[in-house]
Amino acid sequence: MTDQELRERARAVIPGGMYGHQAAPGAGYPQFMRAGRGARVWDVDGNEYVDLMCSYGPVVLGHRHPAVEAAVAEQARLGDCQNGPGPVVVDLAELLVRTVRHADWAMFAKNGTDATTMCCTIARAQTGRNKILVARGAYHGSAPWCTPRPAGVTPQDRANLGYYRFNDLATAQEAAAEAGNDLAAILVSPFKHDAGFDQELVDPAFARGLRALCDAAGAALILDDVRCGFRLHLGSSWEPVGIDPDLSAWSKAIANGHPLAAVLGNDAFRDGAQRVFVTGSFWFSAVPMAAAVATIGALRDEQAIPAMHRTGIQLRDGILAQARSWDLAVTYTGPPAMPYLTFAGDQDHELAAVFTAQALRGGAYLHPRHNWFVSAAMTGDDLALLLTATDQAFAAVRKHLSD
Ligand code: PMP
Repeated sequence: MTDQELRERARAVIPGGMYGHQAAPGAGYPQFMRAGRGARVWDVDGNEYVDLMCSYGPVVLGHRHPAVEAAVAEQARLGDCQNGPGPVVVDLAELLVRTVRHADWAMFAKNGTDATTMCCTIARAQTGRNKILVARGAYHGSAPWCTPRPAGVTPQDRANLGYYRFNDLATAQEAAAEAGNDLAAILVSPFKHDAGFDQELVDPAFARGLRALCDAAGAALILDDVRCGFRLHLGSSWEPVGIDPDLSAWSKAIANGHPLAAVLGNDAFRDGAQRVFVTGSFWFSAVPMAAAVATIGALRDEQAIPAMHRTGIQLRDGILAQARSWDLAVTYTGPPAMPYLTFAGDQDHELAAVFTAQALRGGAYLHPRHNWFVSAAMTGDDLALLLTATDQAFAAVRKHLSD
């Protein structure tokens, strides 16, 4: 079955043919994927790509990592979705509490949206207050309170949100003052990774300022580590900044592609966490938890995070040298393991689309409007192929500009 044939079948039975973030990101992209191994993926038409999207973040050690898949098979032999969680839930909670500095306890769910929503609910239960501050434009999930699209959302869904600008402490202080004694929490991502925009690392003074604001107000500082968690640091992504949140939301990379989310919290919020009713039919499945224990172990044993950082630096240096050689003005932002590239003046992402479409033809799967993800499986050969594809992609942009 070809991609084209599957698209036609899908159009009849799936609204819009596909939906959400996995709708193909542009012309020339395959919609349907067949397989993945290490840093390579194959579409249903048999094309092979070096994968720089990593399933939008879940894959961190590479596709089908042997130790993770062995743990999955072992747990699957015993059982997955049962009347109670497996013992692995306690192993995993202990491992996370040992690994993440601010965490005294852990709870589990499936998706990042579950985790960010639970953090807000727990903060409200603990503080008895309503208002949550978020950075304008930040993505925290697809539930009505946080989805970026207005369709189907009521004003009431957003009524208890206040807004600040990332890295602009004065705007957070103003929003906190406006919330007054109804401030339950400030929700923040480790760095600014809004899709389609240049990324911005956090200013440590901003992180310290948010911590102080929450402490003064008796509100929760919630870190949305869904996208960054365990890609930048084997612990909370703000540990290197020296700031601990009260609650943190995790998903994506924690189980190397297996469906799992986690909420981690400190003892000050344990009572609120105990009082909320949160659950889901598949939240306690043992297989993804076994995958998470194996993933965290492999991240540590294989020194995967420093490896992604080093590969990310080689990728950045290679791409920036190519951009210079093609005399193209670009901005390359974000941590080396989670980079994003924009072209000067490319407001509607036209040049980004030319660049990524040509890279795709050259065998590199990038994205025109979303940050990229380096996995620990990327080899020197993968990187060389990737950089050959991006060089051709810069050539295509140069040609597009001169046509
Ligand atoms: N927060 C952040 C920072 C994310 O990047 C995402 C997913 N892209 C989410 C929350 C929501 O996660 P999920 O799609 O698994 O619900």
